[in-house]
Amino acid sequence: MHSEHSPDSKVSIEELCNTAIQKGFQEIAITDHFEFYAPGYPVGFFTPRYIEKDLADIEAAQKKFEGQLIIRKGIELGQPMVNPELAKSILSDFEFDYVIGSIHKIGTLTLSNVAYNAKNVEDICLNYFDTMYELADAGDFDCLGHIDIIRLYAAKQGTPVNMLEYEDQLIPILRRVIERGKGIEINTTGFRQEISTTLPNLDILKLYRSLGGQIVTIGSDAHCSADIGSGWSESTILAKQAGFDYVTLYEKRRPILIPVE
Ligand SMILES: [Zn+2]
Repeated sequence: MHSEHSPDSKVSIEELCNTAIQKGFQEIAITDHFEFYAPGYPVGFFTPRYIEKDLADIEAAQKKFEGQLIIRKGIELGQPMVNPELAKSILSDFEFDYVIGSIHKIGTLTLSNVAYNAKNVEDICLNYFDTMYELADAGDFDCLGHIDIIRLYAAKQGTPVNMLEYEDQLIPILRRVIERGKGIEINTTGFRQEISTTLPNLDILKLYRSLGGQIVTIGSDAHCSADIGSGWSESTILAKQAGFDYVTLYEKRRPILIPVE
């Protein structure tokens, strides 16, 4: 979940923790955004100082909620492979429990801002998956985030996308994730939007499982208290249907497999 440190959330870490406790969660991960830009582009506020402040806040919450809630130090790295030097220094200078690798931009194109239509969506998807492969192939992350996010953005604009048409692109990505001992996230955001499914959906989860995939995390991607844990039980049902007996939590970047009830 994302706190007020992220540019797209207003909720404090303390409020996230209080709400998670009220909702009966024993463990959460704060995964604020850190977006990467090719060298030479302005970085906005995504500097090491931003991470320092975020982690200090998480550590304060860990002390405050000790014995009530386990709070993991996470981060969501957006296209880290565009600045591998910076990605490397961040992951060596700071200690995280869980690192999500996502693609939010292709070059200077921000995927959430594109006007999707039936004519351009195929090219964007092909570009997106090329970029995702680069990340899967060599990026430092624990799980890939919302791997079919274009489906959500395009559907918002009335352009449905069947991700199974991109099986030829998805299979090498999923194979590489598996070979490297990494995983994928089941992101529940989609339940709260037009597509009404997880990212990725059941088809892709089944594909990943059929290739030998074992590591899936479930993330609400909450940017506000109301969304904390939303879609959790529906997602565990989907994980089961796709053939997963375990979901994964991370501590100090080591996967911990928890049986799905
Ligand atoms: Zn994301």
